[in-house]
Amino acid sequence: MVFCKFSMDQSKLKLATQCVHAGTISDTIEAGVNSPIFVSTATGFLDRQENTYPRYFNTPNQQAVVAKLCALEQGEAGLVVSSGMAAISTAFSALLSPGDHVVLQDQIYGGTYHFALAQLKKLGIDYTLVQGTSVDNFSEAIQSNTKLLYFETPSNPLLKVYDVKGISQLAEARGVISMIDNTFASPINQNPLAMGTDIVMHSGTKYLSGHSDLCFGALITSEKLQQIMIKSAVDWGSSLNAITCHQIERSLKTLSLRVQRQNENALFLAKELERHPAIKKVHYPGLESHPGHNLAKSQMDGFGGMLSFELNQEGDAVAFCKRLKLIQPVLSLGGVETIVSIPGLTSHIKMSREERLAAGIADDLVRMSVGIEDAEDILQDLVGALGMGE
Ligand SMILES: *Cc1c(COP(=O)(O)O)cnc(C)c1O
Repeated sequence: MVFCKFSMDQSKLKLATQCVHAGTISDTIEAGVNSPIFVSTATGFLDRQENTYPRYFNTPNQQAVVAKLCALEQGEAGLVVSSGMAAISTAFSALLSPGDHVVLQDQIYGGTYHFALAQLKKLGIDYTLVQGTSVDNFSEAIQSNTKLLYFETPSNPLLKVYDVKGISQLAEARGVISMIDNTFASPINQNPLAMGTDIVMHSGTKYLSGHSDLCFGALITSEKLQQIMIKSAVDWGSSLNAITCHQIERSLKTLSLRVQRQNENALFLAKELERHPAIKKVHYPGLESHPGHNLAKSQMDGFGGMLSFELNQEGDAVAFCKRLKLIQPVLSLGGVETIVSIPGLTSHIKMSREERLAAGIADDLVRMSVGIEDAEDILQDLVGALGMGE
């Protein structure tokens, strides 16, 4: 199959160009600009090297998405699956066996935390939650049976920054596979494979989709690890159909544009919120006051569209959300619209209150996913709802 209509050396192209062009399938009938959609799940087997079938993860539209994501993340090979959690469970089940041990950071997506809690132990796989963000903290958690080191940066919901290069080098030196959840950063802001991480995972439901209307997950890695994970994926069966792949490809064409605007808006809003009297604290890696600012600057091209803040008046987060007029209190993140959530009531509800507070997630912490609207309009809505206006 001939991907990539243009004849230039693809690897030399910048990310915004890759978003538009990488992986596009040649349209030999119309010479159209978009990849044709191949909807058949029943395909011929005579005179073909490989049988294509959605659950074999080898259909043209699945591969067009993988090719684009590989170009964006500088990966050799990848896999697109039906959700971010399907990507995590596929990778874990492919790489781990009973008796193995996983190192996970404690500041982790709530669903991943619950997966470890509910599924890993059941499979006879042990894990350690690392407290603290330093490479030493991770080093101390590695055991003789550790097979996988899993981390996420910037983290959810406090936007803590972890050292991608340092943690990946540590894993390599100790013979452990490193895997990162790169959802919050998106490939536009952070490319962990280039910093030595073995596997990049995305909840494509967020920035990659960008319009709050698709659910998928992605794994981008080396040819070798992809071969191992694809075998597991075929057995677990979390495949995507061609129409969804077409929608993903369409979404990815504007990824760079969207994320750049979200970076700009979030930085502007973080600075404004930081000096607002109703706000106790703003968590955003782009702020100089953020403890991970310099590290973020060294490993990210932009600081992302996610931030969180604590209100001065305790117990007021719900009332604050109800006073918002433009910004919607809804779940998920990464879309073109600005939304807020209260992690204690949503993404981290599966943790006990004690565990949440120990992880620094206050009851009145509000997490914001900044969209692509005019930043002044977003600010006005926030200031109005904070109630101690300028
Ligand atoms: C949403 C999310 C996931 C899980 O992805 P789904 O597509 O909902 O399965 C994992 N990690 C992070 C950081 C997320 O935001």
